[in-house]
Amino acid sequence: MNTILINGTTDFFQRNFGNAPEKIILSPGRINIIGEHIDYNDGFVLPAAIDKIICFAFEKNNTKTSKIIAIDLDEYFEINLDDEITFDEKVWTNYLRGVLQQLKLKGFQFDGFNCVFRSNIPVGSGLSSSAALECGFLFGINEIFNLNIKPVDIALMGQKAEHWVGINCGIMDQFSSVMGKENKVIKIDCRTLEFEYHEANFSDYSILLLDSNVKHSLFTSAYNTRREECEEGLSIIKKKYPEISSFRDCNITHLQNVKDKMTENIFKRSHYVIQEIARVGKACYALDKGNIPLLGELLFETHKGLSQEYEVSCDEIDFLVDAVKKEKSVIGARMMGGGFGGCSINLVEKGAEDDLIEKIAKQYHSEFGIELKSYKVKISKGTTEFKN
Ligand code: ADP
Ligand code: MG
Repeated sequence: MNTILINGTTDFFQRNFGNAPEKIILSPGRINIIGEHIDYNDGFVLPAAIDKIICFAFEKNNTKTSKIIAIDLDEYFEINLDDEITFDEKVWTNYLRGVLQQLKLKGFQFDGFNCVFRSNIPVGSGLSSSAALECGFLFGINEIFNLNIKPVDIALMGQKAEHWVGINCGIMDQFSSVMGKENKVIKIDCRTLEFEYHEANFSDYSILLLDSNVKHSLFTSAYNTRREECEEGLSIIKKKYPEISSFRDCNITHLQNVKDKMTENIFKRSHYVIQEIARVGKACYALDKGNIPLLGELLFETHKGLSQEYEVSCDEIDFLVDAVKKEKSVIGARMMGGGFGGCSINLVEKGAEDDLIEKIAKQYHSEFGIELKSYKVKISKGTTEFKN
């Protein structure tokens, strides 16, 4: 499937610019097994890159102007790198402008280039097409101009580009898109950026994403509000326990002891974060031991927390998680990503996926009148140069 995407991108480049591209870069989307909304709370996360990618084709053009084409949107923009980088009404261009801005801020020298890209990562479904876009673009510029930017710095600069666009995201999405490995999940310590790979062996189960096909507009504002609420929760805890510097150092007793100083919402958000940080450790243990039913249980617990305490789910995603809970073939499921729509991640008995999709799609359609989408994903490598 990705061969078609790569050939299509290369052919398009050739038709537009009259020659084959200098470099082809593949940049993946990501899933996150567990550890949701805690990358920006000094927690741990357990993501992995997947076999859905954006394919970029690049060449230097020996001018000062770069031309960038989004094949899927049939849109392009040109940018003179000597000009000030400003926001544009074409939203997708801002992710790339943000990357160029980062390069300029850090003093990198480079000239104009041509770039086209095409994707099979569903957009806005929580698979981080935006991180794949930033990181693949930056990876490509790094390659054609030999800028020697380290992979981790590509992730960090990609994150900053996304902040520039307006989402105050943590590091997980960019990090997993860049650092992913085939059949490995990455446990990332979001405080230190230390990371370790764990075998992604789900034994008799496979990973299935069910896409609610909705994205409620609350997304951006709620994301930024949750960050503020968590900061407030932590600052209340710190007042009583000055030795605590992050949620990682807190347990439920600490939180209970300051409950009367918090609003109910701040308490619930903080409670979720503390529990979720602990769940990531348990999930790694379950994965390492091959105890997939335990992993599944943890996923259901996470969903409950995201829905009732962190309050970032929505009716459609809650419905999908509740529906699969009744199915014997599913041992775990939860909302994945920022929330208010997007996908649920499900651990489904191998071989039972298609029947499950058909059944849940019917139920979902009769409840909401919306078509359910689904993706069977494989855990794959991070951003790389493609060589024939
Ligand atoms: P997610 O990262 O979960 O897919 P976001 O809302 O964070 O959703 O990012 C999606 C945005 O990224 C799109 O609105 C678009 O601006 C940009 N984008 C992603 N994929 C493409 C693509 N193939 N072509 C152009 N822009 C894209
Ligand atoms: Mg995104």
